Amino acid sequence: MERRDVVAYLDELFPPTLAEDWDHSGLQVGDLSLPCRRVLVALDFDLKLAERLQGVDLLITHHPLLFRPLREIRPETPQGRKISALLREGTACYTVHTPYDAARGGMGERLSQLIGLRETEPLAPRGRLYKLVVFVPPEAVDAVAEATFAAGAGKIGRYGHCSFRVEGTGTFLPGEGTKPYVGEVGKEERVREVRLETVVPAERLSAVVARMLAVHPYEEVAYDLYPLELQDRRHGLGRVGSLPEPVSAEAIIGRFATSLGVKRPLIYGDTATEVRKVGVCGGSGGDLWRDALAAGCELFLTGEIGYHEGLAAAEAGLTVAALGHQETEAVFVDHVAELLGRKFPELEVIRA
Ligand SMILES: [Zn+2]
Repeated sequence: MERRDVVAYLDELFPPTLAEDWDHSGLQVGDLSLPCRRVLVALDFDLKLAERLQGVDLLITHHPLLFRPLREIRPETPQGRKISALLREGTACYTVHTPYDAARGGMGERLSQLIGLRETEPLAPRGRLYKLVVFVPPEAVDAVAEATFAAGAGKIGRYGHCSFRVEGTGTFLPGEGTKPYVGEVGKEERVREVRLETVVPAERLSAVVARMLAVHPYEEVAYDLYPLELQDRRHGLGRVGSLPEPVSAEAIIGRFATSLGVKRPLIYGDTATEVRKVGVCGGSGGDLWRDALAAGCELFLTGEIGYHEGLAAAEAGLTVAALGHQETEAVFVDHVAELLGRKFPELEVIRA
């Protein structure tokens, strides 16, 4: 197995297309074409880890090692020591940062499970969507549609195979050297065609287009891709969900703190209030408190929130608890290690 196989699986679970514009996720240092036997999973690449890279093929971190541009790599600086250690040991470093935060099945859902939230949805939807429009001869339209659905197109909420089809007339004039499916070289052709349209999430775009082109009978396929203003509501930062029955904010904060091993959460607002709808976002998710309030939450759990933001949230009627950036995001290590262990039983997975 190569390092790229491990990375491909992570990209499938936490698509790079979900990265925030300011983020720098993905390969930071190293060669992914080399074999992979041992993986180290960490929240941060801290200096202690620089001493533990011997025999590690792939270091997977949540926070990026390289975030701001470097001007030099010198062993007397912390960054220089880390990069030198990677190069010396031949370890590749791969970061899954905001794609893990935003992906369905990522950080938000993992944290929601800790307090038993049900029917969760993203607090701030993030997935980009495209509209694919392709012109197909009527006899091939079902096959082309099926191919795009199988590759991940046509999902709207809990509905699959969503498409729209309208029949019309297509024209074309086959040029020198073409082998047209219908018609002949040098003669304008008018044919019945179906305009088939469907929706595609960004992370499936290249796979959907490749399958569509493979199945389409034309030599030269006419198709359009439009970026949509709509968000894919399956993915997004944070989660909002409901508790099975109303519980005091204090009890939920206590449950969350215990599961994360946090002793003293920082709390803004009323803890005696009964809550049913709860928002959660790990790390520095404090800014999402307005989204939590707009979604009808009575309680918002996060890693960090600014003092004034916390006060503003409390005054708006939302109880907020901050449990620490590292403390709320540490779930990354166990989660990713579990996923890799299950998928690649032959891989040795170490947790930092
Ligand atoms: Zn973070």
